Amino acid sequence: MLFRKYKRCGIIISVTNKKIEELLTGAFGISKKLQRIGSEAENGLKDKLEEYKNIADYNQLKVLCAMRENRLSETHFAGTTGYGYNDTGREALERIYSDVFDCESALVRPQMISGTHAIATALFGNLRYGDELLSVTGRPYDTLLKVIGQTPAKGSLAEHGVTYKEAALTEDGKPDFDEIRRLITANTKIAAIQRSKGYAWRRSFTVEEINEIIRFVKSIRKDMICFVDNCYGEFCETEEPKADILAGSLIKNPGGGLAPVGGYIAGAEEYVYAAACRLNTPGAGREIGPTLGFTTPFLQGFFLAPQIVGGALGGAAFAAAVFEMLGYPVLPKPEEKRTDIVQAVQMKNSGEVLAFCRGIQKAAPVDSFVTPEPWEMPGYDCQVVMAAGAFVQGSSIELSADAPLREPYTVFFQGGLSYMHAKTGVLTGLNEMLKNGFLVI
Ligand SMILES: *Cc1c(COP(=O)(O)O)cnc(C)c1O
Repeated sequence: MLFRKYKRCGIIISVTNKKIEELLTGAFGISKKLQRIGSEAENGLKDKLEEYKNIADYNQLKVLCAMRENRLSETHFAGTTGYGYNDTGREALERIYSDVFDCESALVRPQMISGTHAIATALFGNLRYGDELLSVTGRPYDTLLKVIGQTPAKGSLAEHGVTYKEAALTEDGKPDFDEIRRLITANTKIAAIQRSKGYAWRRSFTVEEINEIIRFVKSIRKDMICFVDNCYGEFCETEEPKADILAGSLIKNPGGGLAPVGGYIAGAEEYVYAAACRLNTPGAGREIGPTLGFTTPFLQGFFLAPQIVGGALGGAAFAAAVFEMLGYPVLPKPEEKRTDIVQAVQMKNSGEVLAFCRGIQKAAPVDSFVTPEPWEMPGYDCQVVMAAGAFVQGSSIELSADAPLREPYTVFFQGGLSYMHAKTGVLTGLNEMLKNGFLVI
């Protein structure tokens, strides 16, 4: 009987738990004391883990409904090549996305290579010479600075005559509504909202907060387009933001770990169509774009995504709980409501950052034997260290940790295709810190 219970030290420990402990100790070399700290942290998270499961279950049904209502069938999986005209699978996929995101229209394409590409496509598609883009949630994600032209770059929005302004967040990390009102002029075309924290030490914005920002912007100028960078946010709550247009990456949450490439744009037909004309050509719009055999992993990944995201939320909360117990500042805190899968932990120095990332790498299913080294990643303005042993290169719905090597030495931890994997990664990361003398327990 695998699950026969027996008593030890006054705690009921199942035989399976005992076997897990043996593997974590024997195969992964994780200190028993660290494992006990982990169990204690996990015990305090029971309600949260239950909550994430409920959100995942609801979203699972939502995706299932969309697939049923759109009569998804095997014929949709055939895919197209070349121009990709009349790709009924692609059309079904995009209808399913728009139903789940509760909007008119969606583009879900392997031709969008990354989240940045999807966001850039949405922005370029909808901005023209003389228009202004206003970021209402402070400094945008690093890779967007070149897209906007804040960091000079060939082909940026700035080069195309689109100006840019930014409403900094208040000291406590909230949108500054007075400042937003002050910055909106007759030329402001798009208000951009970033849901996730990116590489910043700030709270991520919940769907409710984002909807409030959108209502506020619309109360000033009804015709402004509200855009949401939804990266890392999909399926973390039961609803997605009520934006005019939003975008994200398929190698994050909505790809469910199975999409090998891709990005999506969803929202009002008018704005999604404008993005399609940018992605493809004016004239061809959304009617071209071969799926090249990706329709099945896109749909299957989207089907699994709610559960995968639920596990990743649990892993992030676990990381928050253990690091907080050990005295590290964490954001969000373990008990806080989550709207994305990212967990930020403030380390004391670059040595701790590198040790933690080495440990995460050791728990990877792929490339567990390599040592992550900091490098000058394209699009970033300082060295970045990334630990990831993923089936899909750069996929961050898979367990990954990354940190720009600059003060205040914050590590951003996210993903894990299962809760157990995320949890093991946190423990191997901490164990590496312990072995290198950074951690006293
Ligand atoms: C990941 C991410 C992006 C896009 O990054 P890519 O690496 O290009 O996919 C944009 N914004 C935020 C907040 C992100 O987390």
